[in-house]
Amino acid sequence: MRIVFMGPPGAGKGTQAALLSMQLGIPHISTGDIFRANVSAGTPLGIEAQSYMDAGEYVPDGVTNAMVRDRLTHEDARPGFILDGYPRTVEQVAELDAMLSAEKSKIDHVIELTVDVDVVVARLVKRSAEQGRTDDTEEVLRRRLEVYAEQTVSLVEVYQDRGLLVQVDGLGDIDAVTTAILSMVNS
Ligand code: AMP
Repeated sequence: MRIVFMGPPGAGKGTQAALLSMQLGIPHISTGDIFRANVSAGTPLGIEAQSYMDAGEYVPDGVTNAMVRDRLTHEDARPGFILDGYPRTVEQVAELDAMLSAEKSKIDHVIELTVDVDVVVARLVKRSAEQGRTDDTEEVLRRRLEVYAEQTVSLVEVYQDRGLLVQVDGLGDIDAVTTAILSMVNS
């Protein structure tokens, strides 16, 4: 099963993708987590990504696409995966399509977690305090939401047109959201 999670920053994609990953036994691939791990380790990729992340901007497609392309070749991703935070641009959609068609595979479901922006801001400010993320200050956060609106929200329609989109209210109780997603992907 190949699943893509969409939704604005703070919608709960990471939490739900991790829970679904355990339930379905397929890896949770978060581009944000991979970037953060590289930033922490001080790799060239991390050094390149950090200034974009700290400003709330997207890391350039060339860098991001190469990273995902590499990750999807790992053995654990062969039976399926849950992508969290990718694709985020029209170019990334095309790139993902190309990666999958080369393997004669395809996306099965795109899950959009829908949320109210004010609730998202409150959630992210809380998460920033808990996790010490440097890209969750209020100013950067507003930029991240703007970038999502400018570059990513239109992808929802792309996947809707393909008949792959499932919309789930991301504001419910965590377990209830997971149950709702599981029943949809299993039906
Ligand atoms: P996330 O944890 O998914 O919110 O990602 C944190 C940050 O990593 C984003 O604000 C971007 O700077 C960068 N990032 C993650 N995924 C992507 C992507 N698909 N394309 C470009 N930048 C990304």
